[in-house]
Parts: sequence; C-alpha cells; structure tokens
Amino acid sequence: MGRSTLKSLSIRQALLALVSAVVIGLALTGIQGFLALQRERQAAATQINQIMDLLQGPAANALWNYDNGLADKLFTAVRNLKSVERLEIRDSANAIFAASGEMPNIGNMADHMFGDILTSERSLFQEKPTGETEQIGTLILYANADVITAHLRTFLLSSLISDLLRDVILGLVLAVVFHFFLTRPLIKLGRDLVRVRPTEPLAIPLRVPAGHSNDELGYVASRVNELLGQLHRSQTDLRRIATHDPLTGMPNRIMMSEILADAVKKAMPANTQLAVLLLDLDRFKHINDSLGHGAGDKLLREVGHRLQDTVQDRQTVGRLGGDEFLIVLDGGQSIESVAATAKRLLAQLSRAFTLDDQIVHTGASIGIAMFPQDGADALSLMRHADVAMYAAKGLGGGAYKFFNRAMTERATIMLRTEASLRDALCNNQLEVHYQPKIRLEDGKLYGAEALVRWPHGDRMISPAEFIPVAEETGLIIELGDWVLRRAAQDAARWRHAGPGFTMAVNVSARQLLELDFPERASRIVRECGMTPHNFILEVTESAVMRDVANQLAVLNALRAAGFGIAVDDFGTGYSSLSYLRQLPVTMLKIDRSFVIDLPEDNALASTVISLGQKLGLTTIAEGVETREQLDWLRQEGCILAQGYLISKPLPAAQFVEKFLSPTLVLPAETGPLSAAG
Ligand code: C2E
Ligand code: CA
Ligand code: CA
Repeated sequence: MGRSTLKSLSIRQALLALVSAVVIGLALTGIQGFLALQRERQAAATQINQIMDLLQGPAANALWNYDNGLADKLFTAVRNLKSVERLEIRDSANAIFAASGEMPNIGNMADHMFGDILTSERSLFQEKPTGETEQIGTLILYANADVITAHLRTFLLSSLISDLLRDVILGLVLAVVFHFFLTRPLIKLGRDLVRVRPTEPLAIPLRVPAGHSNDELGYVASRVNELLGQLHRSQTDLRRIATHDPLTGMPNRIMMSEILADAVKKAMPANTQLAVLLLDLDRFKHINDSLGHGAGDKLLREVGHRLQDTVQDRQTVGRLGGDEFLIVLDGGQSIESVAATAKRLLAQLSRAFTLDDQIVHTGASIGIAMFPQDGADALSLMRHADVAMYAAKGLGGGAYKFFNRAMTERATIMLRTEASLRDALCNNQLEVHYQPKIRLEDGKLYGAEALVRWPHGDRMISPAEFIPVAEETGLIIELGDWVLRRAAQDAARWRHAGPGFTMAVNVSARQLLELDFPERASRIVRECGMTPHNFILEVTESAVMRDVANQLAVLNALRAAGFGIAVDDFGTGYSSLSYLRQLPVTMLKIDRSFVIDLPEDNALASTVISLGQKLGLTTIAEGVETREQLDWLRQEGCILAQGYLISKPLPAAQFVEKFLSPTLVLPAETGPLSAAG
C-alpha cells in the first residue's frame, strides 16, 4: 500500500511536469504566433501598397487612352509577381476595362487572418488642363493569399513543432530533476520511516538524504530523528516507571515476571534448576500501623537493601508489592544451595532494623518453588512459591518452605473454605455455643466460654478446621468481631444471671495485631449494653509467646479497658516466667492434655496451679471429664473448671434452660453444681 503510493507519486509528478510544460509552452507559442501574424500582415500590406504605387500611373494612362495594349503590358509585368492573383482596371461606371488572372477563392484560413488586406483598391485620376484632377476609374488588386501566408504558415508550423519538442524535453527533464532531487529522497525517507519500529524508535534512525543536509528534506529527516529520540526517551521513562517499584527502585511484579520468564527460557534447553523464592515479611502490617507509613516505607527500603546484599549480583531481587519480595536464583541451583540462601536471607532479616530512633524487629517467611519440578512457566512457579510461602507462614513465621503438591490441595481447600465461610458469616449462618465454667469452691456458675459453630448440612464444621483458614485469610477479624458481638448480646440478655457472670471469648493472635482492636472490642460490648469487665478474652499461649513484642501494646490496652485476659492452652507453649510477668494476664487456663491424666499424672497441673497462686492469677482447668479430675483440682486449689463433666458447649437456648433458669440445679449426681443467681 505505502509502496504503491510512493510509485504513483513519481509517475504523477512526471505527468504533471510534462503537461504543465506543454500547456505553458503552447500558450507562449500562441503569443509568438500572434505577434508573427501582426508582423506578416504589416509586411504584406507594405508590399501590396508598393505594387499599387507602381501600377497606379500606368493604369490611369491605359484607361484614359483606352489602350488595351498598354494594359496588357502592365499585366504581363505584374504576372511574375506571385503574390498578385488578379488585377482589374474598372472605369468610372465600375465596368471592367481590363483584367488579368483568376478570381481567387475566398474562405480559407488565410482570408480570416488577412481578409482585409487581400483586396486592395486604388482610385485612378487624370489631370485636366485646368490643373484639376478627376477620378476616371479604379485599380483593384487581389492578392494571392497562399503566397502571402506561406511564410507565416511555415513559421507557425516550425515554431509549434520545435516548441512542442522543447516543452516535452523540458517536461521530461523537470520530471527527472524532480525525481532525483525530491521524489527519490522522499521515497528513501518514506522507506526509512516504514522501517522505524515504534517499540525501538532509535534502532534504525532516518538517514538524511545525501546532499540534503541543510535543506528542507534534511530538516524533516533530522526533526523526525529528534522526535524519535524523544519518543525513545519517554518510552524508556515509561518502561522504568512501569517495571520498577518507585519505593525501593527494585524491579516490580511485571519486570520480575519477565525476568523469571527469561530465566525459565534459558534454563529449559540446558535443563538446569532454577529457584523462585517468594518472601513475605512477618508482622509488617503491625509495624506500619504502629509506627506509621513513613517508617514502613523505610523498613521496606532497608529490607530491599539487605536482600540485594545477601544474594549474588546476577540473581535478581524484586518487590512484588506490599511486603512481598521475589528472588530468582538461576544458574543451576541445587536444593541445598537454595536452602542455604533462604536461611541467609532469613538471618539477615531477623536482625533488628533501626528506623529513625526506633529499633524494630521483623522477620520473614519464604516459599520456594523450583524449576522444572514445581512448574514449567513463570506464572505457575510464582503461584506455587506463593502457596509454599503461606505454608511457611503457617509455621509461625521466620521459616522457609519448599513447595509440594499437597500444598496446592490445601490451598485450594483453603480458598473454597474461605469463600463459603465468608458467605456463612454474611448470611448469619454461624452460631455461638456456650460451655459453662463453674467455681470449684461451691460449684456455682462462674460464666461461659463462647465457641463458634458452623452448621453445614446436618453436621457442624469444627472451629478447629475453619478458624485456621479464617486466620490465614484475615477473615478472622470480621469473624472475631461477630462472635464477640453475639456473645455480648447474649450476655446482655442473661444479665439476670447475676453481675458475676463472665463471658469468655476466644481471640486469635491475628486479631491482636490490629491496633484498633481494643477500642473496637470495647465499643462492641458497650453497644450491647455491657462493659469490658464482664468479659475475658482467651488468647492461646503459643499465639502470645510467638510475638510478645508486637502484641504487648494491644494486650495492655485491652486490659486497661477492663477486659480480663486468659492464657489458653497454658503449659503447651514455652512461656518464660519473665514474659508472663510482663503480660497483663488475669487467668491461666490449664490445657486439656494435662487434665486428662489427672489425678495420677499431675506434675504439670500442680505446677500451673501454684504458679497461678504465686502470681495472683485465677486458674481454670479445661477439658474436665471425670469426677476424679474435678475433685483433685478442687483439693489442689484450682479456682474454676470447665469440661464435658459439667456440660458440653450448648446452643444459647439450651444453655439458658440448663444453667440460667433459677429453679434448676444440675446435675444432681455430680455434686455441688448449681445455677448461679
Ligand atoms: P479452645 O479455646 O481450647 O476451646 C476448647 C475446646 O475444647 C472446644 O472445642 C470445646 O468444645 C472442647 N472441649 C471442652 N470441654 C471438653 C471436654 O471435656 N473434653 C473434650 N474432649 N473437649 C472439650 P471447639 O469448640 O471445637 O473449639 C476448638 C478451638 O477452636 C478452640 O479451642 C478455640 O481455640 C477455637 N475457637 C472456637 N471458637 C472460636 C472463636 O470464636 N474465635 C477464635 N479465635 N477461636 C475459636
Ligand atoms: Ca478457649
Ligand atoms: Ca483451650
């Protein structure tokens, strides 16, 4: 298309040059012809006048004397003059006295141009003796038009032919000149322009046509090159912006995907191993929330530096967004060398960070996917590294994990569970069951623990199954709020149970990372007409101990608001006494695994009870299933008990019926158990 347009330009231009040269040439020839006509007419008129001057006298004599012989002599003399066709001598009555030659034909071209001078008349006079002159007749000359115009015609014809020839040659020369000086460089420019690649504007710049460097063509070419340069620069800028993370200056997700795809392409034929490490900071959100985004940004930059310093140069580190980083290790990696790098990375990030004057501890979880075994392309490698990263997070942070197929199944189940759990939460399909807690001293009701339930068809999905999913996906925040509100609403309805009724609600570690949790929890219970003093928040020992530094502020705020704080599953974690002292804890909950073996195997249970006594904390035993366990606990001075012996967790209505109806005392054979109030 572009090519044929260029060709036609050349032909059209040649035609135009030719036609205009011919038209202008013809017009000039016309003017020349007109001037020549004027000249020829003038010359013809002069010649005829001269002939008439010569003939006038003798003709008058012949007529006056009626001398036919004289007239004939006259005519014979003139006959040699080709330009004279016919002569007539007429008398005063206009009758022909003498004539010679034929009457010429009138009507050809020459007559139109010379008609007025082709016929010429002279009056003939005779001098009277008185000296007067008298007209005696007329001399008429008919000129030979062919002879008179012959000169003009040859002139016109020859100049027309030569002019035409000249015009055609001029036109052709112009066309060639234009072609060489204009069209050809233009076509070259056009061809160069066609070859310009918009994606790489500077790869093939326009060539300035030879000899045109300082004219308009050269100007156009260099201007276009300038524009291409600008395009190249802005493309480079745009690409930088599009492929780099503005905060750390590291490659972003787009760029990392490309880098990884390239690495895969290179590793494929060589069949070498390649590792993709997805690194996610632990507790980053907490740091961001507590120290502000400025500090968060500084931390991310510093993390970026440490990562880059840790891996070797040609191995690439990028930030995918948020607190996620991706590291591509290529060049034939063994599992061992990747694991070693992962360990080094974790070690680097576990060192304290100094942000302004603050010392901050973060850490990271790393998921690793290997090429070719864990994925054949960049996308699946990244996805599987992500799955492995979540598995590493599940270990409590600060760990790395290699991807395996089972993880995807788990991740799929997790995704599916999350979606339907979210639905259940939105559609109010979750329930809260209550398990009573009694005072061992008098068997009276102390309160209840709220335990969430998810009815699914005709069975209940255990919170042990879906709480971890909710924790991992963050849904636990909404879910926790919902359980707290429901428990608070029920507690408000059960106020007649007495001012001492204490509602216990389980709280996940994840909820304790939300800086606004204390304020929100207080608001929720107040909105239900209760105060935090009526509530105990149960936090598992492992959850608190894992991250004391970051949860301490939230726990303190909760305690300050009036909430009681129980350490759940106590004895299973690694609480150090010094940590326990720092925490604003009000209650220790002896884990079921230590209650099960009572009274025979009682070392741990007694230790916890005496620890509680020394620290002034309430102790409660969970999972009490036998009378013996209950009796032993009471004797040892444990304050509260909870377990199937007293009751399984019950739906609210049954709980009210069994434990809050003032008339009921339950169960008779298990001893001094009675409803409060
Ligand atoms: P947990 O806080 O240790 O709760 C006690 C679990 O032990 C409950 O299981 C309860 O039904 C069970 N249990 C109570 N007495 C006995 C007994 O005598 N024998 C036996 N064998 N088991 C007993 P459940 O309800 O399945 O809850 C499991 C875990 O799910 C809870 O452990 C808690 O960590 C979590 N959970 C439940 N509801 C919530 C909630 O609303 N929020 C949060 N964050 N976690 C919850
Ligand atoms: Ca609990
Ligand atoms: Ca427990």
